[in-house]
This record gives sequence, structure tokens and C-alpha cells, in this order.
Amino acid sequence: MNELDHKYEVDIILNDEKQKLSKEAKSELMESGMMDEKGKLKIKGVSPKMLKRMKQEYVVCPVMEKEVQFVQCFVCDNFQSRVTGQVLCKGDPLTGNGS
Ligand code: SF4
Repeated sequence: MNELDHKYEVDIILNDEKQKLSKEAKSELMESGMMDEKGKLKIKGVSPKMLKRMKQEYVVCPVMEKEVQFVQCFVCDNFQSRVTGQVLCKGDPLTGNGS
């Protein structure tokens, strides 16, 4: 019984096509060591199979007010956890990520 402190419950939407990561998202991921120089994602604790699926998902972010690839959402400071097809999002204003 540990209620996480979050502001939004954001639906995760599955898209059959691979979602493209924005340039900003890529450089963020590279900076934090979650993507290598070839653009391959490496996220601790996430299997390649999971990653493949995550690449097909996106959310409509209520903070940035745009579609955001799930991978980017997953590594976002506001990300709390993922439950039954939804992201629990802290909803804090985001700074320093080019948005
Ligand atoms: S966790 Fe970040 S990217 Fe995901 S919905 Fe919240 S603010 Fe947007």
C-alpha cells in the first residue's frame, strides 16, 4: 500500500510503426549513457525485447503538450512508474530538456 505521489495518469498508446526519437531526446539519452554512439538504446534492467516494444509506444505528454516516445517518457524526471498501460507522471514543469 504505497500510493505514489503523481499528478497525471497518462495513457500509453501503441503504434504499429516505430516511433522516431527526436534529436533532443537522442542527445539526452546519449548524455545519460542510455544510448551508444550508434543510436542503440541500452537501458539498465530493460531487455532488448522490452525495448523493441517500448519503441512502438508513445504518450501524449501533459507537461510538454506533445507526443513523446515512451522511451523518452520512461527516462524522464517525472516518470514514477508504469501500471496497466498508463504512466504515473509527477507532472512537474520540465526544464533544461529543450522543450
Ligand atoms: S513522465 Fe515526463 S514525458 Fe512522461 S508524461 Fe510525464 S512529463 Fe511527460
